[in-house]
Amino acid sequence: MNRIVWAVLHIVLGTTLAPCILGQAEEKPVKINDAISMVPATGNVYLVTTPAGGVVIDTAMAEMAGEVKKIFESEPHGPTKYIILTHAHADHIGGISLWKEPDTQIIAQRNCVEFLHYVARLEGFFAPRNAAAFNRASPSIGPWAGNFGGKIEPNILFDESYKFTLGGVEFDLFSTPGETPDHLTVWLPAYKAAFIGDNYFGIATPEPNSFPNLYAIRGTKPRWALDWIKSLDSVLALKPEIVLNGHGEPIIGNAEITRRLTRYRDAIQYVHDETVKGMNAGKDVFALMQEIKLPPNYDLIEIFGKVSWSVRGIYDGYAGWYDGNPTSMYELPPSSVYPDLVRLAGGPEPLARLAVEKIEAGKPVEALHLTDVILAYDQKSVPALNARIKAMEYLRLHTQNRVESGWLDYGIRLAKEKLAPAP
Ligand SMILES: [Zn+2]
Repeated sequence: MNRIVWAVLHIVLGTTLAPCILGQAEEKPVKINDAISMVPATGNVYLVTTPAGGVVIDTAMAEMAGEVKKIFESEPHGPTKYIILTHAHADHIGGISLWKEPDTQIIAQRNCVEFLHYVARLEGFFAPRNAAAFNRASPSIGPWAGNFGGKIEPNILFDESYKFTLGGVEFDLFSTPGETPDHLTVWLPAYKAAFIGDNYFGIATPEPNSFPNLYAIRGTKPRWALDWIKSLDSVLALKPEIVLNGHGEPIIGNAEITRRLTRYRDAIQYVHDETVKGMNAGKDVFALMQEIKLPPNYDLIEIFGKVSWSVRGIYDGYAGWYDGNPTSMYELPPSSVYPDLVRLAGGPEPLARLAVEKIEAGKPVEALHLTDVILAYDQKSVPALNARIKAMEYLRLHTQNRVESGWLDYGIRLAKEKLAPAP
């Protein structure tokens, strides 16, 4: 098992769940209570045991699903009667085949069908971007799967809610769109436990937590803030004593759950409403990306989601691509005139010098724009590539956002490869 994940979990749980995990060997699942156990992974996998068999909630990423399953096998458990998918992201559905037995039912919210088709439909677009976000080499892509080529494994699909009882334990499932349109929450009234998937991102632990990704820059449809708020409200209305997330540690105790989920909900609401107010006031998206900051009392860091990206996600989600500038109606991008600007400036060197001055003045993004201008004129310009690397290294040093860091690493690698192509 990923020892880092365990180490983090142990540190994180030290204050909340210590009695449950004290003395456990690393290779055992973490006991949340007598019926619920978890193995932390990307994403977390949960097993609810009942006298009539087990219910698995999420199955982790394919790469780690086998290891997770092995840890659950270290303790006796009955047959897998149900697999419930909180949503159809790859890090939650990767281990389905490992858990599925001949009569296992797989449950998901109905929007997962279109979501899986959408991911398969655009695989050639998403795969290199997913790889770039983690600065990995792009995988090879097979032939186009077509518009409806997703692999649909769930055999029970529901719209608003679905209820079943297994071994005397009631499972209430209901639709809670947020990070994805197919998100669902599993509520176990007997244990006052809510499994809420990725609608609360519990990783930057113990506190503060991260603002969510209302738009993931690897490429997603907008994640509707108002849906997300409503979904968090419906979880809060259950008055849970245990909240179990797709990532990060469980949250124990209704007071703590209410504090964290309310703060998260209010932060989403604030960013949404400020964006909408700015749109109605005629402000452009870049002005709002610069202006809107989370008030400090929310105490959420931007390690995962970024407020400025979320502002743009909300803005573009509501309005689409046209910015109202007649120039933008046409096919030619601004870069079509960049080579002319370089010639007017007397070549790349003065612009590259200006880029370096910008970095030294703490304006690395302006430096990046200048290097875009130069590279449109000469994509192998050494001074431009050097300035570009310097600007991205500066940004890398000054961000705590993991997604931004991944893309900067990728950009630095590409620029270095242009400077010194592999033999
Ligand atoms: Zn996830």
